[in-house]
Amino acid sequence: MVNQRLIWDKNERKIIFSWDWRRPIRRGRETNALGKLVQLTEGVKLHERADRWRWKNGVEGKFSVGKLRKYIADQKQGDVQESFDWINWVPLKVNCFAWRLKQSRIPVMCKLANRGVNVETKTCQICQQEEEEVDHTFFRCSHAVEVWNWFSSWYGLMQVLPTSFKSMVEEIRKGAGDMKTRKLGLALAYIVLWTIWKTRNGAVFKKKKARSMNTADEIQQMSFNWIKTRARFSWLKWCDWGCKPSISCNM
Ligand SMILES: [Zn+2]
Repeated sequence: MVNQRLIWDKNERKIIFSWDWRRPIRRGRETNALGKLVQLTEGVKLHERADRWRWKNGVEGKFSVGKLRKYIADQKQGDVQESFDWINWVPLKVNCFAWRLKQSRIPVMCKLANRGVNVETKTCQICQQEEEEVDHTFFRCSHAVEVWNWFSSWYGLMQVLPTSFKSMVEEIRKGAGDMKTRKLGLALAYIVLWTIWKTRNGAVFKKKKARSMNTADEIQQMSFNWIKTRARFSWLKWCDWGCKPSISCNM
């Protein structure tokens, strides 16, 4: 028991150890660990009173939701360009996916391997050319490049193909003249990312060949349905949507 090994010496006013080893301490790792433990507990003062939780940001260690909100807001200050646009024209699952992607938290092969998951291969199953990193799958893989190429000519307001989530958002912001166009651009871009991931999963788990034109068709279909109903653009027509989404949305 820990409390039998650690004794508070009232006279010396410090912790003393009362060891009772079953066998001698081995040299190397065990001796080092013991040394670290002694070092860590140096200067620790034990009190007679019972343990209690203390919140380091509160007055007298007391927790409050208001203080927590302020703490989070303070952390975020000066980080405006890092904010994420939540777009209600696409479902929450698509927004959450994009938000995770922004933080590079997508379980691609390299991420899984880094977390100690035993993956068969780290190679991208679509192009078989490079390791499957987040930016590779969504922006640099031949499939992704073809999809973004198609998207760029369909959407029409992107000058440069994106190479990362950040550059994608910047490109959309640059190309869009007003808030509504920007919202449409981001909504479509999130759908592109979502669909690329669906295609990737088909290639990995069902061994389906990733074809950019199929991905593009799916993007067009899905975005038409979601934006027509969610943005309440009842006048939207499928035949116009295929030409230029921003024009058919009257932007
Ligand atoms: Zn690839």
